[in-house]
Parts: sequence; C-alpha cells; structure tokens
Amino acid sequence: MRRRRRVKIIATLGPASSTPETIRQLFESGADVFRVNMSHTPHGELSRLHGIIRQVEQQMGRPIAVLADLQGPKLRIGTFENGSIELIEGNAFSFDLKRRQGDNKRVQLPHPEIFRAVKPGDMLLLNDGRLKVQVESATPERIVTRVVHGGSLSDRKGISLPDTTLPVSAMTEKDRADLDHAINIGVDWVALSFVQRPEDVAEAKKMARGRALVMAKLEKPSALAHLNEILEQADGIMVARGDLGVELPLEQVPGRQKQIIRAARAFGRPVVVATQMLESMIREPVPTRAEVSDVATAVFEGADAVMLSAESAVGSFPCQAVATMDKIAQTVENDPFYAGIIHAQRAQPQATAADAISAAARTIGETLNAAAIVCYTSSGATGLRAARERPATPIVALTPIPATGRRLALVWGLHCVLTEDAKSLDDMVGRACNIARAEGFAEPGQRIIITAGVPLRTPGATNMLRIAFVSRDGAGES
Ligand code: PGA
Ligand code: MN
Repeated sequence: MRRRRRVKIIATLGPASSTPETIRQLFESGADVFRVNMSHTPHGELSRLHGIIRQVEQQMGRPIAVLADLQGPKLRIGTFENGSIELIEGNAFSFDLKRRQGDNKRVQLPHPEIFRAVKPGDMLLLNDGRLKVQVESATPERIVTRVVHGGSLSDRKGISLPDTTLPVSAMTEKDRADLDHAINIGVDWVALSFVQRPEDVAEAKKMARGRALVMAKLEKPSALAHLNEILEQADGIMVARGDLGVELPLEQVPGRQKQIIRAARAFGRPVVVATQMLESMIREPVPTRAEVSDVATAVFEGADAVMLSAESAVGSFPCQAVATMDKIAQTVENDPFYAGIIHAQRAQPQATAADAISAAARTIGETLNAAAIVCYTSSGATGLRAARERPATPIVALTPIPATGRRLALVWGLHCVLTEDAKSLDDMVGRACNIARAEGFAEPGQRIIITAGVPLRTPGATNMLRIAFVSRDGAGES
C-alpha cells in the first residue's frame, strides 16, 4: 500500500474518531499520523487509542506515528461574581492574586510569575484575543491595565501575553505526568505547547531520553525570536497557527508560516502546518475555496505534514476531511508549478557524507528518471537527510527498527518499510530491488538508486550509493 503524495497527513483523534473502525477508515482515507490532544484526553484513553492504532498498523502492514500533544502552560483568569462582566474601552481594569470573585474593576489572576514579568506598555489578550488590555503599572501583587478592545469576559478565560517572556517552563506538572505516560506506552512523538526558549525543548528531550521525538509548537512570538536555536534542539516543529494567530496580528501569520517552514527545511527538521486548515468541514462535507487554498499553500511550500484538529476530532465528517486533504495534496504535487516552487527553496547540502550522498541520489535519480531512491536508515537520520533534498524521485526508507519507521511516517516523502539489516552487498541490492517492486515503486527493467553505509550494520555511516536494475525475477543487477 503506497500513498500517491509526498506530504503527510496528521489527523487528531477525539469523540468523532475513537473507535477501531473509524481510526482504520481514517488511515485508509490518508492519515499517516494520529495526534492525541492531552488537554482533553485522560491517560487511560490515550492507552486505549494507542492500542487501537497499533492494531490498525498490524492490519495494514504500514508503520503509523502517534503524536501526543501536551497542553502546556495555558494561563487562565479566575471567576466573576455574576459569571461574566463587560470590559469597556478606555476604562481601567486590574488583575491581582486575591481569591475573591471578580467584578468590573478587577479579577483574580492565579499566576504570580506574570506579575513580575509584565512591563508597562505590554498588551494582554483575553478570550482567544477578542479582548485586549494594556499594562499601565505592575507590582508583584497587582497589574493595572487600560482596556483597548472591550467586550464580554467570563469565568476562567485564557490570557495570552504576546509581549512578555514568562519565567515558566513549557511543561507543567500535568505535562510531565502526561509525557511520562505517553512515553511509557510507546508513542513516537510528543509535542510541546507554548515553547518560548530552546531550554524548554532541551528539558523535554532530557525527560524523553530518546524514547520519543520532541516537536516544538511555535505559537508564541518570543519563540520566533529564537527560531534557529529551537530548531537546533527540537526533532520537529509545528506552526501552531491557532495560538500564534492570537498572539500575533493575524495578517502576520502567513509570512511567519513561510519563515518557519523555510528555516525547518534548511535544518532538515520535519515541519507541520496546523489548525483551521479545513475548519468548515467540522460541519460541512465540503471545504471552502479559501481552505483549499490554505492547504495548497502549505503543500507548495514543502511542509512535511498538514494537520487536522477539530475537523477529525469532533467534526461530522472526519474521513471526508482526510480524503479532502489527500486530494488537494495529490493535485498540488502534480501541478506543473509544484517542482519549480519546491526546488526554489532547497537548501545546500551540509558538509557531511549523508548530505553529499543524498544530494547525489537526488540528481542521479532525476537524471536517470529512476523509479525510487531506496535508503537504508537505522536511526532515521539518513532518511531525514534524504527527505531534506525534496527529490522528485520517490524515497523508500528501509529500517530494521520499528520505532524508526513510525517516527519517519511524519516526514515528507518517506515510504518506510521494516526489513532486517542487509547481510552482504548482494543482499543489500537484492533486498532494495525486491522491496521497491513489492511496494509498487519499481517495475522490472527500471533503475533504482540505493544509499547505505558500509561496513553494513554500522549506524550513522551512510557513505555509499549504488545504481541497480530491477530484474525480471525481482532481484537486482548492478
Ligand atoms: P492547540 O495547538 O490545538 O493544542 O492549541 C495548536 C495551535 O495552537 O494551533
Ligand atoms: Mn495551541
């Protein structure tokens, strides 16, 4: 079973998609990765969903990635005497630490760290950015603000601080417990919300100890200021446009999306574009033109994956949403403009053997019109470098390690197959040819390109490239 596109699709699971039948149908419709949002999912439910995904994986014979998305330090205000108040533009409004219920002059903000971090002039956003107040003065007990955009404010609404770097870690106690559980049951990726600094990612990686890869969600302007350092630490990146669009003026999000995708591609880190991609499909079986255009933009830009959130988690048409993304992706990737746009953003190879071989495999593949680039990768590192080249030739990644195949399921263009390490050079060529043929990539008489490391079975040493003919009996001839 092979996909007819290079970009991957991530589907979030939720009440609309939690049975084995639906999860299997989502996979068949095109989902390569399943995301579980830990803001709404107890540990037992994550274990249950993980078990179902592993069963579907077995039935389909394809590696599938599971991504556990941690809630992060979502900040909220306290409650009001009457449940809600009206903030009036130009009026003063204060936040303090008193537990007392709020009124139209003040409300509790139970996060002491905010009081020490804000400065006069900082903007505070409430209720997903619908309301805006500006700090006039701040002490460790009280923040006095002036209302810039008024409106109704109710109990426990979220508060965002786009201008402030908070001295809090990206992980709360709940996040640590969730991460621990997710890793113990064997998820492949964990995503970290509201990353502000590279240290936030380093902390999660330290806890994960290589047992899962760590994705940094970029949803705060302060993270953009450290984009390169965060890319250095993180195994992957998400353009989390939901919260990013609250903390930044909306019209700045498309430019930042391009910036993040280009930087991630240059580093060779998988990058995901997320949130509201097909939002209207929560209720309708067809998308809007603007949504189709949004998905197409991410595909043209060379993102590794596009993501569905509420569309597949709570919507009325989860499988149709996945199938719609699949169709948009296939159409864009076959568009005459696609190759030119994607290759214009290709980054130079770095001075490593894996990059030199991957770049050579791309040019040889394109020159010879080869059927596939087959790369042996045990840790997954060589698979990532092969994908970084964004070759027009399909890539088949062979690995003996199931966790590697699953992790790479999120990566642009990688069709992963589990197979033992090659025992000899002949075995290496024969195995690559057989698999390329069996998986529907190559016909007898076509050429494939094989990359590997010799001596065989030494991870991290890709240093070899072979051109082989797929022969009629299925084996290879060099
Ligand atoms: P969330 O993250 O859905 O967990 O908030 C994605 C986003 O903010 O876009
Ligand atoms: Mn978010």
